Amino acid sequence: MNLTQFRFIVVGAGFFGATIAERIATIKQEKVLVVEKRDHIGGNCYSYRDKDTDIEVHRYGSHIFHTSSQEVWNYLNRFTQFNTYQHRVFASAHDELYSLPINLHTICQYFHKTFTPGEAKQLIIEKAFQIEHPANLEEKAISLIGHELYELLIKGYTKKQWNQDPNNLPASIIERLPVRYNFNTNYFDDIWQGLPLHGYDYLFKQMLGNPRIQTALNKDFEEIGHAISSSQYVIFTGPIDTFYQKRYGSLSWRSLQFEFETIEVKDFQGNAVINYPDITIPYTRIHEFKHYHPERSYNTNKTIICREYSIDNTASNDPMYPVNSEQDQELYKRYEKLASQEKNIFFGGRLGRYRYYDMDDAILAALNLFNNELRNI
Ligand code: FAD
Ligand code: UDP
Repeated sequence: MNLTQFRFIVVGAGFFGATIAERIATIKQEKVLVVEKRDHIGGNCYSYRDKDTDIEVHRYGSHIFHTSSQEVWNYLNRFTQFNTYQHRVFASAHDELYSLPINLHTICQYFHKTFTPGEAKQLIIEKAFQIEHPANLEEKAISLIGHELYELLIKGYTKKQWNQDPNNLPASIIERLPVRYNFNTNYFDDIWQGLPLHGYDYLFKQMLGNPRIQTALNKDFEEIGHAISSSQYVIFTGPIDTFYQKRYGSLSWRSLQFEFETIEVKDFQGNAVINYPDITIPYTRIHEFKHYHPERSYNTNKTIICREYSIDNTASNDPMYPVNSEQDQELYKRYEKLASQEKNIFFGGRLGRYRYYDMDDAILAALNLFNNELRNI
């Protein structure tokens, strides 16, 4: 591959990399090379149609697009339409099924009583510790929902997901989930939500379809990094600590293992996701992909499910979640300082910025990087 023909080299074909490549090719009308170490585009959002059943399978666990950013919504709608899917999740705990995120139904069910929104709020206020500045996930969760619901729905799941005591984790993790005193069971609060009508693979092919974009799959940046000259620009969306050969040590990441199974039944669990907070169950959730496309009439008596296990990143070297402990934040600052001294390398995305980005956050950050930095170089 002749690298010299590209002034811009994007490392990683996830949403951050694809957005940058698309903007460079479309707005700057310049050639851009996208280097991706996996054998497909799409990063962790990748989905494909299973050959046997035609079911759209999310290779790295459920990915539901949701955003309240008009800019991101308008941008993505250039490449795809979305279906009308709205995400609802249940948690199977101690042999009962509860509605998530915690809402009036969850509270009534757990306490075996019919509460009005005001009564439920009063009850939780009485049960919750009044912690003025919750210092960690456990304190934050207890201050929001009280001890009983924390023990039932949060503690075990969180320990499994992060392999840490919740009192060592940042409160921000639990702030992702709303607590509602009504019967709204939507998992997200955003204005727009849905699944790309033709799947994520189609969406990424649209984004990377400009002939000025060349995509090299199965290629690790490590193989070509030495050949990049100072007149070329690299947008790196892999893990920032790996880029610097872990000079200051490893950031903590969690990874996942997915166990897929095709089952001879039309509907396995009746919902796209069921969570398993009990610590005695080794997986955190089961996905059933059929439910993501109610508009498709899948003509099959089979279904595909996937059990999700949280694992240490050192076992897989496939980082997916930044743990973001206080120690990690200090370490990340040191890597960020190195990054700020680079003249022709930009770091982006969930791995490059060590941020718990959702898809829309990654796209918005990429649009900002393009508009503020790359557009005029
Ligand atoms: P990624 O998608 O991780 O892409 C980075 C790419 O870089 C990867 O393809 C990787 O192979 C490649 N790469 C890394 N290093 C190198 C290298 N050295 N050389 C070449 N290539 C390299 N967000 C939502 O909005 N809704 C959801 O429902 C949702 N569900 C999620 C479920 C799970 C299990 C996970 C892990 C995340 C979920 N997310 C969800 C978050 C979403 O996956 C991210 O926001 C999004 O993928 C970020 O895009 P990215 O481009 O930053 O990173
Ligand atoms: N969480 C939990 N129980 C659940 C679902 C979530 O305790 O049934 C906590 C857990 O700490 C998790 C965090 O809330 O890591 C964020 O959940 P989310 O569903 O947003 O996680 P993601 O989809 O990003 O894995």
